[in-house]
Amino acid sequence: MDFSIPEDHTAIRDGVGAVVRSFDDEYWLARDDDGEFPKAFHRAMADAGWLGITMPQEYGGAGLGVTEAVIMLHEVASHGGAMAAASTVHINLFGPHPIVVFGTEDQRKRWLPRLVEGKDQCCFGFTEPDAGLNTTAIKTFAEKVPGGYVVHGQKVWTSTAQVANKIMLLTRTTKLEDCKRPTDGITIFYTDLDRSKIEVRRIPKMGRKAVDSNAIFIDGLFIPDADRVGEEGKGFSYILHSLNPERLLVAAEAIAIGQDALRRATRYARDRVVFDRPIGQNQGIQHPLAERWMALEAAWAMTMKGAWLYDNHRPCGAEANTAKFLGARAGYDSALQAVLTHGGFGYAKEYHVERLLREVTITRIAPITEQLILSFIAEKVLDLPKSY
Ligand SMILES: Cc1cc2nc3c(=O)[nH]c(=O)nc-3n(C[C@H](O)[C@H](O)[C@H](O)COP(=O)(O)OP(=O)(O)OC[C@H]3O[C@@H](n4cnc5c(N)ncnc54)[C@H](O)[C@@H]3O)c2cc1C
Repeated sequence: MDFSIPEDHTAIRDGVGAVVRSFDDEYWLARDDDGEFPKAFHRAMADAGWLGITMPQEYGGAGLGVTEAVIMLHEVASHGGAMAAASTVHINLFGPHPIVVFGTEDQRKRWLPRLVEGKDQCCFGFTEPDAGLNTTAIKTFAEKVPGGYVVHGQKVWTSTAQVANKIMLLTRTTKLEDCKRPTDGITIFYTDLDRSKIEVRRIPKMGRKAVDSNAIFIDGLFIPDADRVGEEGKGFSYILHSLNPERLLVAAEAIAIGQDALRRATRYARDRVVFDRPIGQNQGIQHPLAERWMALEAAWAMTMKGAWLYDNHRPCGAEANTAKFLGARAGYDSALQAVLTHGGFGYAKEYHVERLLREVTITRIAPITEQLILSFIAEKVLDLPKSY
């Protein structure tokens, strides 16, 4: 077993880091305040070629694996930008996977280069208010008409819909009650976000203010046949392909935020003098920070294991879910400990750790909650009866 870090991984970290470090804490604090999409950051990442890291080379990408994407997003989230930085570019990495794997050559040529160049921005309309985590219960319906489909329905939490010009939409083309299995009858489209037929309402939220999330209402949207990805009714199986990479990327982001918070906490603990000595000399301050370091390292090891398994075409569901669970917990616990280590100043925006805590919280909830991960491990690894 070889744990040394290959040169190309260091090169990715250095290259991504050079772009990310040119956007400082003040830039991200300002976005947290005004809620504007980090356009300058998105453009800088696109210009440096990072948006296509996982896209096939023939469409302008670098054709690299989830391991490299994990390293990239870990670096992106490490320097104060947290989820605002990560979510600005995250969607590009594995979101278009159904197009890469199941799209036609014409669709790949039409869509992928524009995503890689940052000319198109895509949002994902999967979650629905009345379905929640039970994806097969979605109701947004695409009715077949000559030349295409007409869609009516509602989505919630659709991130970046304020700035995106494209949407990947999960719909039913056969009603649940008419399907043999609940996973049948679901179809994916990748199409223009036509604002004359899609109303987008921003949801005020706890963190990641710069990257909007929305309730969207779709009323009579026409989607041409040419914008259907793969076969009608097979969409559920298509989205499964990108789930494990997504979990690994979120794990890396959460760990990066936790490590960022931990660096800030230890720096403060060395500098802050109370009772004539640095607070970091007290074991009550040291030990929780040491424990947070261990949890973050353990989660990182699991993330890299999951990424290695995925890139070597081995099953990685247990590892990817475990990495996401442990990474999100470790990141959250570390950010909270960083706030507490700063005492009153932890609550002040000026020290950035309260923002990191708000930012990292989402990783415990999306794209899948802790409860559902625990249920998955209980069923698939421990062979216990399915609970949901
Ligand atoms: C900031 C943000 C951005 C997002 N971006 C997107 C996006 O771009 N596109 C998109 O499609 N979605 C997006 N989501 C949605 C996200 O994936 C969902 O919020 C998440 O999957 C949880 O679903 P839910 O909110 O409907 O929870 P619910 O399904 O309503 O669950 C509520 C709670 O009940 C628990 N629960 C439910 N059933 C069970 C059970 N059987 N056993 C134990 N516990 C259970 C859940 O774990 C959870 O804690 C985003 C969410 C957030 C917060």
